Amino acid sequence: MTLHSDDQLKDDSYATGYPTDSIDWLRRLIGFDTVSRHSNLALIEDVQAYCEQLGLTVDLTFNDAKDKANLFVTVPAGANADEVNHGLVLSGHTDVVPVEGQDWTTAPFTATIRGDKLYGRGACDMKGFIACALTLLPQAVKLSHAGQLRRPLHLALSFDEEVGCLGAPLLLADLKARGITPDYCIVGEPTNMTMVVAHKGVAVYRCRVHGQSAHSSLTTQGVNAISYASRLIGYVDELADEISGRDDNDEWFDVPYSTLSVGTIQGGTATNIVPNLCEFTFDYRNLPHMTQDDILVPIKAKVAELSAQMQARAADTGIELLQMEAVPAMTDSDSAELQALIAALTDDDTRHKVAYATEGGQFTNSGIPTIICGPGSIEQAHKADEFVALSEMARCDAFLQKLLASATSQS
Ligand SMILES: [Zn+2]
Repeated sequence: MTLHSDDQLKDDSYATGYPTDSIDWLRRLIGFDTVSRHSNLALIEDVQAYCEQLGLTVDLTFNDAKDKANLFVTVPAGANADEVNHGLVLSGHTDVVPVEGQDWTTAPFTATIRGDKLYGRGACDMKGFIACALTLLPQAVKLSHAGQLRRPLHLALSFDEEVGCLGAPLLLADLKARGITPDYCIVGEPTNMTMVVAHKGVAVYRCRVHGQSAHSSLTTQGVNAISYASRLIGYVDELADEISGRDDNDEWFDVPYSTLSVGTIQGGTATNIVPNLCEFTFDYRNLPHMTQDDILVPIKAKVAELSAQMQARAADTGIELLQMEAVPAMTDSDSAELQALIAALTDDDTRHKVAYATEGGQFTNSGIPTIICGPGSIEQAHKADEFVALSEMARCDAFLQKLLASATSQS
Protein backbone atom coordinates (compact mmCIF):
# COMPACT_ATOMS: atom_id res chain seq x y z
CA MET A 1 0.00 0.00 0.00
CA THR A 2 1.38 3.43 -0.82
CA LEU A 3 0.49 6.52 1.07
CA HIS A 4 -0.72 8.52 -1.90
CA SER A 5 -2.83 5.98 -3.74
CA ASP A 6 -6.07 7.35 -5.20
CA ASP A 7 -7.71 4.67 -3.18
CA GLN A 8 -6.69 6.27 0.00
CA LEU A 9 -7.64 9.78 -1.03
CA LYS A 10 -11.20 8.61 -1.63
CA ASP A 11 -11.26 6.73 1.65
CA ASP A 12 -12.89 8.27 4.70
CA SER A 13 -9.53 8.16 6.39
CA TYR A 14 -8.43 11.26 4.55
CA ALA A 15 -8.40 14.70 6.18
CA THR A 16 -9.42 17.59 3.92
CA GLY A 17 -7.04 20.50 3.80
CA TYR A 18 -4.14 18.63 5.42
CA PRO A 19 -0.85 17.49 3.91
CA THR A 20 -0.55 13.94 2.67
CA ASP A 21 3.22 13.67 2.77
CA SER A 22 5.77 14.20 5.48
CA ILE A 23 7.61 17.09 3.82
CA ASP A 24 4.42 19.14 3.53
CA TRP A 25 3.54 18.23 7.10
CA LEU A 26 6.98 19.40 8.20
CA ARG A 27 6.50 22.72 6.38
CA ARG A 28 3.20 23.16 8.17
CA LEU A 29 4.62 22.33 11.62
CA ILE A 30 7.66 24.61 11.22
CA GLY A 31 5.21 27.44 10.42
CA PHE A 32 3.99 27.36 14.02
CA ASP A 33 6.38 29.35 16.22
CA THR A 34 6.43 26.97 19.16
CA VAL A 35 9.53 28.30 20.94
CA SER A 36 9.09 26.99 24.49
CA ARG A 37 8.22 30.37 26.01
CA HIS A 38 5.25 30.70 23.63
CA SER A 39 1.96 28.82 23.60
CA ASN A 40 1.87 25.66 21.48
CA LEU A 41 -1.93 25.63 21.29
CA ALA A 42 -2.19 26.70 17.64
CA LEU A 43 -0.15 23.65 16.60
CA ILE A 44 -2.00 21.34 19.00
CA GLU A 45 -5.40 22.55 17.78
CA ASP A 46 -4.34 22.05 14.19
CA VAL A 47 -3.30 18.45 14.91
CA GLN A 48 -6.46 17.93 16.97
CA ALA A 49 -8.67 19.01 14.05
CA TYR A 50 -6.73 16.67 11.75
CA CYS A 51 -7.19 13.74 14.13
CA GLU A 52 -10.88 14.51 14.52
CA GLN A 53 -11.35 14.54 10.75
CA LEU A 54 -9.82 11.07 10.81
CA GLY A 55 -12.45 10.06 13.35
CA LEU A 56 -10.00 9.93 16.28
CA THR A 57 -10.53 11.39 19.74
CA VAL A 58 -7.63 13.29 21.26
CA ASP A 59 -6.81 13.75 24.91
CA LEU A 60 -5.24 17.01 25.93
CA THR A 61 -3.39 17.74 29.15
CA PHE A 62 -2.64 21.37 29.95
CA ASN A 63 -0.11 23.35 31.96
CA ASP A 64 -1.40 25.43 34.89
CA ALA A 65 -1.73 28.56 32.75
CA LYS A 66 -3.73 26.57 30.17
CA ASP A 67 -1.69 28.07 27.35
CA LYS A 68 0.21 24.88 26.51
CA ALA A 69 -1.02 21.35 25.97
CA ASN A 70 0.12 17.79 25.37
CA LEU A 71 -1.87 15.76 22.88
CA PHE A 72 -2.38 12.01 23.04
CA VAL A 73 -4.32 10.14 20.40
CA THR A 74 -4.87 6.46 19.76
CA VAL A 75 -5.65 4.56 16.60
CA PRO A 76 -7.51 1.59 18.06
CA ALA A 77 -6.82 -2.02 17.14
CA GLY A 78 -8.68 -5.30 16.97
CA ALA A 79 -11.43 -6.75 14.80
CA ASN A 80 -13.89 -4.22 16.18
CA ALA A 81 -11.38 -1.37 16.24
CA ASP A 82 -12.05 -0.86 19.92
CA GLU A 83 -8.82 -1.89 21.62
CA VAL A 84 -6.98 1.14 22.95
CA ASN A 85 -4.71 -0.39 25.55
CA HIS A 86 -1.13 -1.65 25.02
CA GLY A 87 0.42 -0.92 21.64
CA LEU A 88 3.22 1.40 20.67
CA VAL A 89 3.61 5.15 21.25
CA LEU A 90 5.26 7.49 18.78
CA SER A 91 6.39 10.43 20.86
CA GLY A 92 7.64 13.91 20.04
CA HIS A 93 7.92 17.31 21.66
CA THR A 94 6.23 20.23 19.93
CA ASP A 95 8.37 23.00 21.39
CA VAL A 96 11.60 24.28 19.88
CA VAL A 97 14.54 26.32 21.15
CA PRO A 98 14.79 30.10 20.48
CA VAL A 99 16.46 31.62 17.42
CA GLU A 100 17.60 34.91 18.97
CA GLY A 101 21.29 35.62 18.64
CA GLN A 102 21.70 33.01 15.93
CA ASP A 103 22.79 33.84 12.43
CA TRP A 104 20.08 32.29 10.25
CA THR A 105 20.33 32.54 6.47
CA THR A 106 16.71 31.40 6.06
CA ALA A 107 13.53 32.49 7.87
CA PRO A 108 13.51 30.07 10.82
CA PHE A 109 9.74 29.61 10.91
CA THR A 110 9.35 29.15 7.18
CA ALA A 111 10.56 25.80 5.89
CA THR A 112 13.05 26.26 3.06
CA ILE A 113 14.32 23.47 0.86
CA ARG A 114 17.81 24.00 -0.49
CA GLY A 115 19.40 21.14 -2.33
CA ASP A 116 18.75 17.95 -0.42
CA LYS A 117 17.95 19.58 2.93
CA LEU A 118 14.95 21.22 4.53
CA TYR A 119 15.81 24.17 6.79
CA GLY A 120 13.77 25.61 9.64
CA ARG A 121 13.62 25.71 13.44
CA GLY A 122 12.58 22.28 14.61
CA ALA A 123 13.40 20.59 11.28
CA CYS A 124 15.34 17.84 13.05
CA ASP A 125 14.53 18.60 16.72
CA MET A 126 11.94 17.30 16.33
CA LYS A 127 9.14 18.26 14.02
CA GLY A 128 10.57 16.01 11.30
CA PHE A 129 9.60 12.90 13.22
CA ILE A 130 6.20 14.33 14.18
CA ALA A 131 5.57 15.13 10.49
CA CYS A 132 6.30 11.52 9.51
CA ALA A 133 4.07 10.19 12.31
CA LEU A 134 1.17 12.47 11.34
CA THR A 135 1.54 11.40 7.72
CA LEU A 136 1.18 7.77 8.79
CA LEU A 137 -2.08 8.30 10.71
CA PRO A 138 -4.63 8.08 7.85
CA GLN A 139 -3.19 4.76 6.77
CA ALA A 140 -3.25 3.44 10.33
CA VAL A 141 -6.87 4.58 10.65
CA LYS A 142 -7.75 2.78 7.44
CA LEU A 143 -6.21 -0.46 8.72
CA SER A 144 -7.98 0.03 12.03
CA HIS A 145 -11.35 0.40 10.27
CA ALA A 146 -10.61 -2.76 8.32
CA GLY A 147 -9.99 -4.62 11.58
CA GLN A 148 -6.40 -5.29 10.52
CA LEU A 149 -4.50 -3.40 13.20
CA ARG A 150 -3.27 -5.96 15.72
CA ARG A 151 -2.15 -3.47 18.34
CA PRO A 152 -3.03 0.18 18.89
CA LEU A 153 -0.82 2.95 17.60
CA HIS A 154 -0.55 6.01 19.81
CA LEU A 155 0.83 9.46 19.12
CA ALA A 156 2.06 11.58 22.03
CA LEU A 157 2.95 15.25 21.51
CA SER A 158 4.33 17.19 24.44
CA PHE A 159 5.12 20.78 25.42
CA ASP A 160 8.10 22.31 27.27
CA GLU A 161 10.58 19.51 26.58
CA GLU A 162 13.37 21.96 25.84
CA VAL A 163 12.99 23.68 29.20
CA GLY A 164 13.27 20.59 31.40
CA CYS A 165 10.80 18.00 30.02
CA LEU A 166 7.94 19.61 31.93
CA GLY A 167 5.03 18.48 29.75
CA ALA A 168 5.50 14.73 29.36
CA PRO A 169 4.99 13.86 33.08
CA LEU A 170 1.46 15.34 32.89
CA LEU A 171 0.69 13.23 29.83
CA LEU A 172 2.07 10.10 31.50
CA ALA A 173 0.08 10.74 34.68
CA ASP A 174 -3.05 11.13 32.57
CA LEU A 175 -2.42 7.80 30.83
CA LYS A 176 -1.95 6.13 34.18
CA ALA A 177 -5.18 7.65 35.47
CA ARG A 178 -7.01 6.36 32.39
CA GLY A 179 -5.52 2.88 32.77
CA ILE A 180 -3.63 3.02 29.49
CA THR A 181 -0.36 1.12 29.65
CA PRO A 182 1.44 1.20 26.30
CA ASP A 183 3.86 -1.65 25.64
CA TYR A 184 6.56 0.48 24.02
CA CYS A 185 7.53 3.96 23.05
CA ILE A 186 9.68 5.42 20.31
CA VAL A 187 10.87 8.96 20.98
CA GLY A 188 11.78 10.47 17.59
CA GLU A 189 14.66 12.71 18.66
CA PRO A 190 17.23 13.02 15.87
CA THR A 191 19.52 9.97 15.80
CA ASN A 192 20.00 9.60 12.04
CA MET A 193 17.46 6.78 12.36
CA THR A 194 19.85 4.73 14.49
CA MET A 195 18.82 3.12 17.74
CA VAL A 196 19.61 4.89 21.01
CA VAL A 197 18.86 2.53 23.87
CA ALA A 198 19.90 4.59 26.88
CA HIS A 199 20.80 8.11 27.89
CA LYS A 200 22.08 9.90 30.94
CA GLY A 201 19.82 11.78 33.30
CA VAL A 202 20.26 15.46 33.99
CA ALA A 203 19.61 17.50 37.09
CA VAL A 204 20.31 21.21 37.46
CA TYR A 205 20.86 22.84 40.82
CA ARG A 206 21.11 26.44 41.97
CA CYS A 207 23.07 27.19 45.08
CA ARG A 208 22.56 30.41 47.02
CA VAL A 209 25.19 31.28 49.58
CA HIS A 210 23.97 33.93 52.03
CA GLY A 211 26.82 35.60 53.91
CA GLN A 212 27.08 38.87 55.79
CA SER A 213 28.41 42.16 54.42
CA ALA A 214 31.16 44.15 56.02
CA HIS A 215 33.83 46.61 54.92
CA SER A 216 36.64 44.59 53.43
CA SER A 217 38.99 46.01 56.08
CA LEU A 218 36.81 44.40 58.75
CA THR A 219 36.64 40.84 57.48
CA THR A 220 36.02 39.42 60.93
CA GLN A 221 32.65 41.22 61.05
CA GLY A 222 31.47 39.66 57.80
CA VAL A 223 30.86 36.20 56.39
CA ASN A 224 32.22 36.02 52.88
CA ALA A 225 29.60 34.43 50.61
CA ILE A 226 32.02 34.04 47.70
CA SER A 227 34.60 32.29 49.87
CA TYR A 228 32.05 29.77 51.10
CA ALA A 229 30.68 29.32 47.59
CA SER A 230 34.18 28.57 46.36
CA ARG A 231 34.64 25.91 49.07
CA LEU A 232 31.42 24.25 47.96
CA ILE A 233 32.43 24.49 44.30
CA GLY A 234 35.76 22.92 45.21
CA TYR A 235 33.85 20.09 46.82
CA VAL A 236 31.61 19.62 43.76
CA ASP A 237 34.75 19.31 41.62
CA GLU A 238 36.31 16.82 44.04
CA LEU A 239 33.16 14.75 43.93
CA ALA A 240 33.21 14.86 40.11
CA ASP A 241 36.79 13.56 40.15
CA GLU A 242 35.89 10.81 42.59
CA ILE A 243 32.91 9.69 40.47
CA SER A 244 34.96 9.67 37.27
CA GLY A 245 37.45 7.28 38.85
CA ARG A 246 34.95 4.63 39.89
CA ASP A 247 35.08 1.20 38.34
CA ASP A 248 31.40 1.08 37.32
CA ASN A 249 31.79 3.34 34.28
CA ASP A 250 29.89 2.58 31.09
CA GLU A 251 32.17 2.72 28.06
CA TRP A 252 29.19 2.95 25.69
CA PHE A 253 28.92 6.64 26.54
CA ASP A 254 31.27 9.24 25.03
CA VAL A 255 32.05 10.33 28.57
CA PRO A 256 31.81 6.97 30.33
CA TYR A 257 31.01 8.28 33.81
CA SER A 258 28.56 10.64 35.48
CA THR A 259 29.61 14.28 35.32
CA LEU A 260 29.20 17.33 37.52
CA SER A 261 29.83 20.76 36.04
CA VAL A 262 29.54 24.27 37.51
CA GLY A 263 27.97 26.48 34.83
CA THR A 264 27.31 29.99 36.17
CA ILE A 265 28.34 32.15 39.10
CA GLN A 266 27.41 35.60 40.36
CA GLY A 267 28.43 37.38 43.51
CA GLY A 268 29.78 40.52 45.11
CA THR A 269 29.28 44.22 44.50
CA ALA A 270 32.64 45.88 45.07
CA THR A 271 36.18 44.89 45.91
CA ASN A 272 36.05 46.67 49.25
CA ILE A 273 32.88 44.94 50.47
CA VAL A 274 32.75 41.45 51.97
CA PRO A 275 30.01 39.95 49.77
CA ASN A 276 26.75 38.83 51.35
CA LEU A 277 25.50 36.79 48.39
CA CYS A 278 26.97 34.39 45.88
CA GLU A 279 24.94 32.17 43.56
CA PHE A 280 26.12 29.44 41.28
CA THR A 281 24.52 26.68 39.25
CA PHE A 282 25.79 23.23 38.41
CA ASP A 283 24.45 20.27 36.53
CA TYR A 284 24.74 16.57 37.08
CA ARG A 285 24.51 14.09 34.23
CA ASN A 286 24.18 10.67 35.69
CA LEU A 287 24.71 7.27 34.17
CA PRO A 288 21.47 5.26 34.17
CA HIS A 289 22.53 3.16 37.16
CA MET A 290 23.24 6.22 39.29
CA THR A 291 20.62 8.44 40.87
CA GLN A 292 20.49 12.06 41.86
CA ASP A 293 20.82 10.98 45.49
CA ASP A 294 24.29 9.65 44.75
CA ILE A 295 25.54 13.22 44.60
CA LEU A 296 22.85 14.95 46.64
CA VAL A 297 23.58 13.05 49.84
CA PRO A 298 27.26 14.05 50.00
CA ILE A 299 26.64 17.58 48.68
CA LYS A 300 23.89 18.17 51.24
CA ALA A 301 26.24 16.98 53.98
CA LYS A 302 28.84 19.48 52.79
CA VAL A 303 26.21 22.23 52.64
CA ALA A 304 25.23 21.46 56.25
CA GLU A 305 28.87 21.48 57.37
CA LEU A 306 29.64 24.83 55.68
CA SER A 307 26.34 26.38 56.80
CA ALA A 308 27.14 25.46 60.41
CA GLN A 309 30.55 27.14 60.11
CA MET A 310 28.92 30.27 58.68
CA GLN A 311 26.19 30.37 61.29
CA ALA A 312 28.75 30.08 64.08
CA ARG A 313 29.89 33.52 62.88
CA ALA A 314 26.51 35.10 62.01
CA ALA A 315 23.10 33.56 62.57
CA ASP A 316 21.37 34.75 59.37
CA THR A 317 23.84 33.14 57.02
CA GLY A 318 23.84 29.79 55.30
CA ILE A 319 23.51 27.91 52.03
CA GLU A 320 20.36 27.06 50.08
CA LEU A 321 20.38 24.27 47.49
CA LEU A 322 17.51 24.33 44.99
CA GLN A 323 16.76 21.78 42.29
CA MET A 324 15.88 23.61 39.07
CA GLU A 325 15.38 20.72 36.69
CA ALA A 326 15.51 16.94 36.81
CA VAL A 327 15.08 14.53 33.92
CA PRO A 328 15.67 10.87 34.69
CA ALA A 329 18.11 8.74 32.73
CA MET A 330 16.76 6.28 30.19
CA THR A 331 17.78 2.70 30.90
CA ASP A 332 17.82 -0.10 28.39
CA SER A 333 17.18 -2.90 30.87
CA ASP A 334 13.56 -3.62 29.94
CA SER A 335 13.57 -2.94 26.24
CA ALA A 336 15.19 -6.03 24.71
CA GLU A 337 12.06 -6.97 22.76
CA LEU A 338 11.62 -3.42 21.51
CA GLN A 339 15.29 -3.26 20.52
CA ALA A 340 14.89 -6.43 18.50
CA LEU A 341 11.89 -4.90 16.70
CA ILE A 342 13.76 -1.68 15.92
CA ALA A 343 16.80 -3.63 14.72
CA ALA A 344 14.54 -5.52 12.31
CA LEU A 345 12.82 -2.34 11.10
CA THR A 346 16.03 -0.37 10.56
CA ASP A 347 18.03 -3.36 9.39
CA ASP A 348 20.69 -2.25 11.87
CA ASP A 349 21.16 -3.71 15.31
CA THR A 350 23.81 -1.23 16.44
CA ARG A 351 22.89 0.18 19.82
CA HIS A 352 23.99 3.62 20.96
CA LYS A 353 23.92 5.46 24.27
CA VAL A 354 23.97 9.26 24.42
CA ALA A 355 24.70 11.98 26.96
CA TYR A 356 21.76 14.27 26.16
CA ALA A 357 18.51 13.76 28.04
CA THR A 358 15.10 13.23 26.46
CA GLU A 359 11.57 12.41 27.54
CA GLY A 360 12.59 8.76 27.09
CA GLY A 361 13.71 8.62 30.72
CA GLN A 362 10.26 9.70 31.85
CA PHE A 363 8.61 7.03 29.69
CA THR A 364 10.89 4.27 31.00
CA ASN A 365 10.37 5.54 34.55
CA SER A 366 6.65 5.06 34.15
CA GLY A 367 7.21 1.49 33.04
CA ILE A 368 7.14 1.90 29.25
CA PRO A 369 10.22 0.44 27.52
CA THR A 370 11.52 3.13 25.20
CA ILE A 371 14.12 3.73 22.53
CA ILE A 372 15.14 6.93 20.76
CA CYS A 373 15.10 6.81 16.98
CA GLY A 374 14.36 9.68 14.64
CA PRO A 375 15.36 11.51 11.45
CA GLY A 376 18.19 14.03 11.29
CA SER A 377 21.21 14.60 13.44
CA ILE A 378 21.55 16.04 16.92
CA GLU A 379 24.51 17.94 15.43
CA GLN A 380 22.03 20.26 13.70
CA ALA A 381 19.73 20.68 16.68
CA HIS A 382 19.55 24.03 18.49
CA LYS A 383 21.74 25.74 15.87
CA ALA A 384 21.27 28.42 13.22
CA ASP A 385 20.10 26.96 9.91
CA GLU A 386 18.82 23.82 11.59
CA PHE A 387 17.98 21.31 8.90
CA VAL A 388 16.92 17.78 8.23
CA ALA A 389 18.17 15.92 5.17
CA LEU A 390 15.30 14.95 2.87
CA SER A 391 16.80 11.47 2.74
CA GLU A 392 16.39 11.20 6.52
CA MET A 393 12.69 12.06 6.21
CA ALA A 394 12.36 9.34 3.56
CA ARG A 395 14.10 6.85 5.85
CA CYS A 396 11.76 7.75 8.70
CA ASP A 397 8.72 7.36 6.42
CA ALA A 398 9.95 3.93 5.35
CA PHE A 399 10.66 2.97 8.96
CA LEU A 400 7.14 3.90 10.05
CA GLN A 401 5.64 2.07 7.07
CA LYS A 402 7.44 -1.08 8.19
CA LEU A 403 6.42 -0.47 11.77
CA LEU A 404 2.78 -0.22 10.74
CA ALA A 405 3.10 -3.33 8.59
CA SER A 406 4.50 -5.18 11.61
CA ALA A 407 1.38 -4.23 13.55
CA THR A 408 -1.14 -5.42 10.97
CA SER A 409 -2.67 -8.85 10.77
CA GLN A 410 -1.75 -9.13 7.08
CA SER A 411 1.95 -9.14 7.84
ZN1 LIG B 1 14.46 17.47 21.06
